[in-house]
Amino acid sequence: MPDTVTLLIEPLPADSTDAQLDATFREVDATAPALRVGELSTQRGDGIFETIGVVDGHAQETRPHLERLRNSARICELPEPNLPQWEAAIARAVAELPPTGEFALKLVLSRGVEHGPAPTAWLHVAPAADFTAARERGIHAVTLDRGYPRGTAERAPWLLLGAKTLSYAVNMAALREARRRGADDAIFVTSDGYVMEGPTSSVILRRGDVWSTPAPSGAILHGTTQLSLFDHLDASGRRTEYHDIPVDELETADAAWLVSSVRLAVGIVELDGRPMPYDAEETRELNAYLLRPRD
Ligand code: PLP
Repeated sequence: MPDTVTLLIEPLPADSTDAQLDATFREVDATAPALRVGELSTQRGDGIFETIGVVDGHAQETRPHLERLRNSARICELPEPNLPQWEAAIARAVAELPPTGEFALKLVLSRGVEHGPAPTAWLHVAPAADFTAARERGIHAVTLDRGYPRGTAERAPWLLLGAKTLSYAVNMAALREARRRGADDAIFVTSDGYVMEGPTSSVILRRGDVWSTPAPSGAILHGTTQLSLFDHLDASGRRTEYHDIPVDELETADAAWLVSSVRLAVGIVELDGRPMPYDAEETRELNAYLLRPRD
């Protein structure tokens, strides 16, 4: 059984009810060239993506990821994706994978080739990195200024802040800066001092018995993992809230995590060089939930 699968997808219009979805996928060798040089995703980062965790043969939270893909397409003025087509592509790729293990499945919808008639789309799934150490022992994080204040998404929608675009060069630069400062990961804060998100994750903190995360204002991505964890916490009688979180509320939290689809929940054991309280058992419980099949 292959542990990577790559499908090129001919995107169908959102309202197409074409029953022959399989005919719109072409499996290719991920190590061979597959895109044209005029591709706007590679030339300009002009496209959107999603990364879905696959655990023991189950793609986690497929619908919330596809809804977010649709929302990113709307923000970027890309053609609306045909969700049943993407669901079928995900099902086809997952069916080819080994039945156990963790994988990262990436969906990409690009504006296509320059002057070309249609968007380009593909799916690639490969084994996930081993995040056992981060999940069990936690990570060191640093706060980094994102360079704009709260309210920027509303004032400057052309910055596409709420969309998961392919333009992740800034996010990757923030991770390099975090490493230069001796940390593992970063947390973006607004220039007026409010917590936003990690470069590839959402922030959740707990003060007493209240779990909170920054309000999804349009400047950050609404994380599927955070949403799913809040459902779980609510269902088990714990209190959750969305609100604007000043940095000092993070610094003085009783616990804090970065959460995302493939790495799942990792506790922050040190923030800006100062130790944070960390409960390995609590984090284990969150990850045990996240590793169960979730739709
Ligand atoms: N925020 C950003 C900027 C991200 O890139 C990601 C995931 O990659 C998240 C938040 C977390 O989203 P999810 O939980 O859906 O993986």
